[in-house]
Amino acid sequence: MRIDIITLFDGMCETVLNESILGRAQKKGVLDIFCHQLRDFAFDKHKRVDDSTYGGGKGMLLKAEPIALCFENICSQIGDKPHFIYMSPKGKILDQNRLKEMSTLENVCVLCGHYEGVDQRVIDEYVDEEISIGDYVLTGGELPALVFVDALSRLVNGVLSDDECFTQESHYNGLLEYPQYTKPQVWRGKEIPQVLYSGHHENIAKWRREQSVIKTAKNRPDLIEKANLTEKEKELANSIIIGKN
Ligand code: SAM
Repeated sequence: MRIDIITLFDGMCETVLNESILGRAQKKGVLDIFCHQLRDFAFDKHKRVDDSTYGGGKGMLLKAEPIALCFENICSQIGDKPHFIYMSPKGKILDQNRLKEMSTLENVCVLCGHYEGVDQRVIDEYVDEEISIGDYVLTGGELPALVFVDALSRLVNGVLSDDECFTQESHYNGLLEYPQYTKPQVWRGKEIPQVLYSGHHENIAKWRREQSVIKTAKNRPDLIEKANLTEKEKELANSIIIGKN
């Protein structure tokens, strides 16, 4: 997958994206990430990318033309129009299902807003989708873009190694993950659940599934309704939810 990010803070994005798993994936060639400095597409003598809003109001807005020029430049580099996403608190809230759907795209471009946001006309002209990372407002789109790119990239084939598999993780099957433990077996008097060192794979899988249901019912009862549960699991989840209320 190729990901292009349009931002005023390309250095900030590159620093994060070149580290750890995403940095390794880029070196392996399974992921290409390019950060584009929006100011490079501002052709007035002051390199201005923002201006005041029509109709009054405090704050500045990112102008349409530099964004359009930057996006058109990316399109001509690729020879195609990438799926264009604007990170925005006005967007649909991101979730694992939408990420799964997008994980097979070849080209994705992400626009980071700043100040009061972006001139609506360039959104109407080019943006395919507005995505929010939650019901709160950040100062800029860089952190949301990094959250989005990280969460998307780890679902792309070849980015995670086999022992970093995402199919067992929270949200993949609609439930939260079961509790996990590492060495030592006893830490400050607290022992791990016996079943985990029993070597009995079927019992371990059963315990993990039950713990997933319990964790989800406790922390995210809203997910239980949509989850694919057996009658017995529904009873267990409901007993926890009712007990809490
Ligand atoms: N005036 C905008 C509004 O009320 O919807 C908020 C602008 S915000 C201060 C500046 C930029 O941060 C936005 O253009 C967007 O790119 C980014 N941003 C802020 N909160 C976000 C969120 N929850 N999800 C995604 N992007 C966000």
